[in-house]
Amino acid sequence: MSTFTVVNPATEETVAAVPSCSAEQADEAVARAAAAQAAWRSVGPGDRAALLRRFAEVVDTHLEELAQLEVACSGHPVGQARWEAGNVRDVLRYYSAAPERLTGQQIPVPGGLDVTFKEPVGIVGLIVPWNFPMPILGWGLAPALAAGNPVIAKPAERTPLTAIRIGELALEAGLPEGVFQVLPGKGSVVGQRLVDHEAVRKIVFTGSTEVGRHIMAGCARQVKRLTLELGGKSANIVFADANLERAAATAPSAVFDIAGQDCCARSRILVQRSVFDRFMELLEPAVRGVAVGDPRDSATEMGPLISAEHRARVASYVPDQAPVAFRGTTPAGPGFWFPPTVLAPVAADDPAFTEEVFGPVVTVVPVEDEAEAIAIANDTPYGLSGSIWTENLGRALRVARAVETGNLSVNSHASVRYWTPFGGFKQSGLGRELGPDALDAFTEVKNVFIATD
Ligand code: NAD
Repeated sequence: MSTFTVVNPATEETVAAVPSCSAEQADEAVARAAAAQAAWRSVGPGDRAALLRRFAEVVDTHLEELAQLEVACSGHPVGQARWEAGNVRDVLRYYSAAPERLTGQQIPVPGGLDVTFKEPVGIVGLIVPWNFPMPILGWGLAPALAAGNPVIAKPAERTPLTAIRIGELALEAGLPEGVFQVLPGKGSVVGQRLVDHEAVRKIVFTGSTEVGRHIMAGCARQVKRLTLELGGKSANIVFADANLERAAATAPSAVFDIAGQDCCARSRILVQRSVFDRFMELLEPAVRGVAVGDPRDSATEMGPLISAEHRARVASYVPDQAPVAFRGTTPAGPGFWFPPTVLAPVAADDPAFTEEVFGPVVTVVPVEDEAEAIAIANDTPYGLSGSIWTENLGRALRVARAVETGNLSVNSHASVRYWTPFGGFKQSGLGRELGPDALDAFTEVKNVFIATD
């Protein structure tokens, strides 16, 4: 069997060799999931809830191990990796409250009783990217299991270790065999097979918009249910009446966290022209002060990029003649490092301003007023997240309603809470994850009429 070599992006050392599953192995996993399906959906709601709570507890007792695996595999700073492992636990706990609450409706009709049921959708294929291996796994896994579905997860090629470990922890927690399987392998082989297999009834895909389009076309052939979480090019809009000190101090973490490999990265900062120079003065020390270095050190704020290839791609957005306003630092020695980089002024058609860089590169442009800020923020095929900085409540609400994006923060950069919905407008995705409504993505509504006459 062929294998993938997992490389530590901070040291370039080999971490592990992981088997790369074949399409036949994907078929076998689907058969196991199909065999487990009937028993899993008939586990009583209270018992299914208890199993999910137990799963969350087992994850909780392995948080440090999972965090350290992610540090080695993804180069995420350890504080961030601990949050990610904790997020898996929290999402499992949150959806462990769902099985007893998956209620339908009773609708008045003549001559009988009409009720609706939320039926499990069936086998779920969960295709995960490399940038947030643990949280994105949990966001699909927890509600899918809670709703009574078996799940087959396909982690990204470079970052399969935490998913494989979480699969083992599920068994340790008592989840029946076949209910949650992890299949490391190539997207074009295992991922594609999950998309094509008739018995897989739902795909949850997080990744690039390009692959997402391909998967959507594949799912269309069987009218397969689909959730898509795709790319982003989010705006961070700073108005003249904002608390500029806070806006500038927080702007780096809103784009450089996990080295900018974040779909929610606020990689376009739009600053009202009257305060542009002052904002740049405040931004410079904040960017130079980002602690870039060994991800195992809890003081580190930014680690390396995932791979040498990805670093070359990110670097292509900062050619020699690029308008670099200022940059942060990187450690010497091995590792796929790239410094936090601020580009200003940039041309409207500069690819760094229009495309998802997925690296620690931010562009800053001046805007005249509210109307121009909204027009530029919306001038992108993406619509995932964004931030608005202003002390004017009316403006905050006007702009929040006008920006075409799924997740906005005012005077904050928070994008994700497991109990609020998350997802994209336009080419950033389809459907919503997290929050109370995510269960709808893993259930089908069935209407039953019972005649009484
Ligand atoms: P990618 O699209 O290259 O790969 C994502 C996953 O899809 C991987 O597991 C890959 O193996 C698999 N895949 C590739 N080809 C496939 C195919 N033909 N059929 C089935 N599966 C296939 O993305 P990536 O580089 O791993 O991740 C980065 C991208 O993910 C960025 O664009 C980022 O914005 C996006 N992302 C979005 C969100 C969100 O919630 N909107 C979150 C994280 C990342």
